[in-house]
Amino acid sequence: MIDRLWWGTAIAAAIALAAGRAGSLSISGQGAAVVVGALAVRAGWGWGAVLVIYFVLAAALSRWGRAEKAHRTGDILPDGGRRTAQQVLANGGLFAALLTVGAHPALRLAALGALATAAADTWATEVGTRHGGTPRHLFSGVPLPPGLSGGVTVAGTAAALAGGFVTALAAPWLVPSAGLAGLCFVATAGFLGALLDSALGATVQGRRRCPRCGTIGERTRHCDSFTEHAAGWRWMTNDLVNLGATAGGATLAAGVALFRPI
Ligand SMILES: [Zn+2]
Repeated sequence: MIDRLWWGTAIAAAIALAAGRAGSLSISGQGAAVVVGALAVRAGWGWGAVLVIYFVLAAALSRWGRAEKAHRTGDILPDGGRRTAQQVLANGGLFAALLTVGAHPALRLAALGALATAAADTWATEVGTRHGGTPRHLFSGVPLPPGLSGGVTVAGTAAALAGGFVTALAAPWLVPSAGLAGLCFVATAGFLGALLDSALGATVQGRRRCPRCGTIGERTRHCDSFTEHAAGWRWMTNDLVNLGATAGGATLAAGVALFRPI
C-alpha cells in the first residue's frame, strides 16, 4: 500500500503538472490535485483510474465551454479559469477523504457518489452554458444570467444525468458486492446531488452586487471595485455549496446499504 501511495503521488504530480501547463489548474490547485490523486490510488488502482477519467473529461468540457462563456458574458473567470485548491477540494476532497477513512463497501459507494455528483454538476454547468440557452431559477423559473448559481437548463439537466451515469458505470467494478443496485444508486445520487447543488445555489448561496454597474454575481471584485453582499448567506460560497452537494450525493449512494447487504 505504501508503494502504491508513492506511485500515486508520482502519477498525480505528473498529471497535475500537465494540467497546470494546459491552464486547467492553478499552482495551489495542482497541489490539492496531487493529494486527492495520491489518496485515490492508495485506495486502489481502479479508484485512481476513475479519478483520472473524471478529471480529464471535466477539464476537456471546461476548455470547450470556456471560449463560449467568455464570448457570451464578456466574463473573465477568476485566475483565468484555472481551478484553485479550494475548487479542487470542494469537488474531490470528500471523495478522497471517504476513500481514506475505510474500505467498507458503503464508504466506497459514498466516495463514488461524491465523485458522481461532482461530475454531474460539472457536465451540467459546461453543457448548459454552451447549449442550454437562458438558465432559469430552479424554483421560480425566472430567467437568470448564464453562470449564476441556481439556474438550470434542459441541456444542463440532461448532461447531469449523463455525468452521474458515466461515473456510476465504475460501481460494479469498484464495489462488486453492491452489484447493479450500486450502479443505480450512484447514478441517481450523482444526478440528485447536482440538483441539490442548484437548489443550494438558488437559495442560500451568497450573491454579491457590483456597486458600479449593479451586476449580480459571485465575485468579490467587479469593475475594479469590491462587490457588496446582496442575497443568500454571506459565508456560503460556491465552493461550500459544491462540498455540500457532494456530501448529499455521498449519503444517497451509500443508502443502497439500507436496502440490501453489501
Ligand atoms: Zn461591475
